[in-house]
Amino acid sequence: MPTDASSPLASARLKIVQAGEPVLRAEARELSIAEIRTPKIQSLIEMMRATMRDAPGVGLAAPQVGESLRIAVVEDREEYFQGAEPAWIAERERLPVPCYVLINPRLTVTDAEPVEFFEGCLSVAGFTALVPRARAVRVEFRNEQADRVVVEARGWHARILQHEIDHLHGRLYLDRMETRSFATTANHARHWRDLPTRDARAALGLRTKIWRAPRPEKS
Ligand code: ZN
Repeated sequence: MPTDASSPLASARLKIVQAGEPVLRAEARELSIAEIRTPKIQSLIEMMRATMRDAPGVGLAAPQVGESLRIAVVEDREEYFQGAEPAWIAERERLPVPCYVLINPRLTVTDAEPVEFFEGCLSVAGFTALVPRARAVRVEFRNEQADRVVVEARGWHARILQHEIDHLHGRLYLDRMETRSFATTANHARHWRDLPTRDARAALGLRTKIWRAPRPEKS
C-alpha cells in the first residue's frame, strides 16, 4: 500500500510489478524455517524493506517484487501522516507502526465491523478506491529469525495487514473495492480525499448508511 504522503516517487530498489502480472494472481508458497534463515531470503527481506521505504509505501508483499513467497513487510511512519487533520487520522485509527516482517502469516478477524476508506496499491500505481475492511485482526506469523509472533491490530494497521496478506493469496484491493469509487490519485486529491466516507458514498450514488460487509478473511 502507498503512504498517502505526497513525496515524489524515487526509483525503487526492486522493480514493483503492476496489475496484470500473473505473479500478483498466484497463491504464494510458504517458507520452511530453514529457508527463512538462508542468505537468499534474508537479502530479499532487506531489499523489500528498502523498496517499500523508497516507494514510499506502508506495506509491500513479495509477489509485488515478482517473488511468489509468503513474505510481507509493513511500516507506517508518523511522517507519512503528520500533516493530516487530527480528525482524519482519528477516523482511520492511524498510529505509527514500526517496521516488521511477516512470513507465512495467518489472519483472523477479531472485529468484523466493516470500515471503509480509500486505499491504494503500489502494484496499481496511480489509482485508489474505497475498500471495506474489518476493523481489527490478529495475525500469527514468523519473523525474519523464524520466531513465532502474534500481532493484534486495529484501524489502519489492520487495513495494511489485510491488504498485504491478500497479496500472498493472489488478491488485489480491486477484488473488494466499491467499483464506482475507483479514481486516479489526482482526482482523489481533487474531489474525494477530504470528504468523510459517508459523504463520498452519497456523492458516488452508493448507499450512505449500510456498508457492505467484507468477505470472511481466512488465510
Ligand atoms: Zn498492494
